[in-house]
Amino acid sequence: MSSHQRTQGYVPGAWGSSLPPAAPSFAAFAPDGAGAGFAGVGARAALDAARTAAAAPGARPEYATSFAPPEDPRAREARAQEEALAATRAAAARTEAERIERENSGGPPRLRTVVLPHATLPRFLAIASANSARNLETCGLLLGRENTRTRYVVETLLIPKQHATSDTCTMDEEEGVLGFTEGRGLITLGWIHTHPSQSCFMSSVDLHTHASFQRMLPESFAVVCAPKSDPNFGIFRLTDPPGLQTVLKCTAKQAFHPHPDVPIYTDADRGHVQMREAPLEIVDLR
Ligand SMILES: [Zn+2]
Repeated sequence: MSSHQRTQGYVPGAWGSSLPPAAPSFAAFAPDGAGAGFAGVGARAALDAARTAAAAPGARPEYATSFAPPEDPRAREARAQEEALAATRAAAARTEAERIERENSGGPPRLRTVVLPHATLPRFLAIASANSARNLETCGLLLGRENTRTRYVVETLLIPKQHATSDTCTMDEEEGVLGFTEGRGLITLGWIHTHPSQSCFMSSVDLHTHASFQRMLPESFAVVCAPKSDPNFGIFRLTDPPGLQTVLKCTAKQAFHPHPDVPIYTDADRGHVQMREAPLEIVDLR
């Protein structure tokens, strides 16, 4: 049996055991319950399928033409219009169902708002200033929690133990970070780092770092602070699709490398990340 038959209500065995082969056409036009009484669920499903088929445009049941008087041309036209309208409505319903299906499964995720306290940037820049003066990057994690079903709020700027160069920054002792985050029941919502001498952009290294955050939480965002540049900060996320998928699939071995020419990342501060007045705690693990 094909899956098409299965979805159309065809159940093998139900007919064969209870009804002769000719029974479906009888059951199809019998009053409610007459067919179902013979073969239960299978017969009812087939009855429904037959009714659907009979109601389809161009598939008028034979009894209608055999016993009805010749049809008025205006009535035929009205019926054609009705059928066209029904077909349009059915197509619209299918499109809507497909849209909902796409949103719920493969489509781009609908992002929840993330509130980022205004104080985050100036306070992080102050913490980073000693490194920035030596042309070294600094990085921090933005931790928070789910505030309502539609919103996350950043509460804590955590500065992990780390080592850096002028264009990279790597967290050390990640267990300590994990212990802190889990102990407090916090979620990693984003990360922040400086570009002490470069402009404000996401390097390929940054993109790979961020992909591992965003694959865990679609709302994850990256803040880049570039104190010597204008603009001096940016809040970014990978496009999804195609940026997130492109970076996750990338197997380049060199730290800095080009990516395919597709829109890989985008601003998040005019999107789901909103800077507001909100309390911020600083925790420096260094
Ligand atoms: Zn890459």
